[in-house]
Amino acid sequence: MVDRHVSVVDDAGEALKKALIGPPGPAQRRALAKTITLLESKRADHRARADELLNALLPHTGKSARIGISGVPGVGKSTFIEALGLLLLERGHRVAVLAIDPSSTVSGGSILGDKTRMERLSSDERAFIRPSPSSGTLGGVTEKTREAMLVCEAAGFDVVIVETVGVGQSETAVAAMTDMFVLLQLPNAGDDLQAIKKGVMELADLVVINKADLDEAAATRARAQITSALRLLGAHAHAGTQVLQLSAVKGTGLVEFWQTVTQFLDRQRERGTMAERRRSQDRAWMWERVESGLHERFKNHPAVRDALPTITEEVRAGRLAAGVAARRLLDLMK
Ligand code: GDP
Repeated sequence: MVDRHVSVVDDAGEALKKALIGPPGPAQRRALAKTITLLESKRADHRARADELLNALLPHTGKSARIGISGVPGVGKSTFIEALGLLLLERGHRVAVLAIDPSSTVSGGSILGDKTRMERLSSDERAFIRPSPSSGTLGGVTEKTREAMLVCEAAGFDVVIVETVGVGQSETAVAAMTDMFVLLQLPNAGDDLQAIKKGVMELADLVVINKADLDEAAATRARAQITSALRLLGAHAHAGTQVLQLSAVKGTGLVEFWQTVTQFLDRQRERGTMAERRRSQDRAWMWERVESGLHERFKNHPAVRDALPTITEEVRAGRLAAGVAARRLLDLMK
């Protein structure tokens, strides 16, 4: 019985894998949707199947340019990604856009996810757009997005764009899963300082000032300001972070943008730093997941749950040192 069950699972997984790594078309799209649904399922048997599938797909992954894009709401992310995506499709690329919306992890709401976004790109068969997983911790949402990225790569998408909003920890998460992190800025002073304060500027491999059509002079000023701010950040910033200005709505500067991206990625590839960046991202991610899993197990451990109210109260009342309390709780996990 058990064996038969396993082989049925394997067959289904094998069929999914075949469709995914097969030629683009309706069958591949269906397989893609199905696989991502499987990845996002909360059922343990689905998770097991998804894990098996991911591993089987692994040799077919890694061949895309992984681009992270962030910026505050209204900066023009979806306008920009759509314009860029359409340009890349024209040039024969296959483009996947995945989103991490940090607001969904807190409130179940959405900063990124209205349905009308990127209408033209999403109706094109050669593109794949996946909104942010709609619930879970940021770690959980990031995990699903990372996995969706691998699945898209296996399906032959050679450009994967991961989009997020300029709030919270999601920018760090996106920078930690992409080859190049691009920060979109508005052409007015102040935004750059905000980004620097939040430490986001340090993450950027490229800064793009959008809406340059509104006020070319302001955009040029912002470009100079951000360039010198980056220089001040010095050793912390990536050496030679470039600053570009463009207009997503007019489509000006997009060609230069893509040229800058490909040059950056080619350089990283030649120097071996891309492979190294990916390896260290994987390592860091594994540990992030281990820590998060341990935390979850700790909180759900029956003995810990039983003892927690009393021990917390002892600490609050000053009868038990916090460190001692922690050790006692951890010992209960054995
Ligand atoms: P997002 O919230 O970052 O995804 O921003 P959107 O792409 O939805 O853009 C917000 C608004 O800015 C929309 O009304 C866009 O039409 C507008 N917008 C985006 N890019 C440009 C641009 O390059 N120039 C101008 N003038 N408006 C833009």
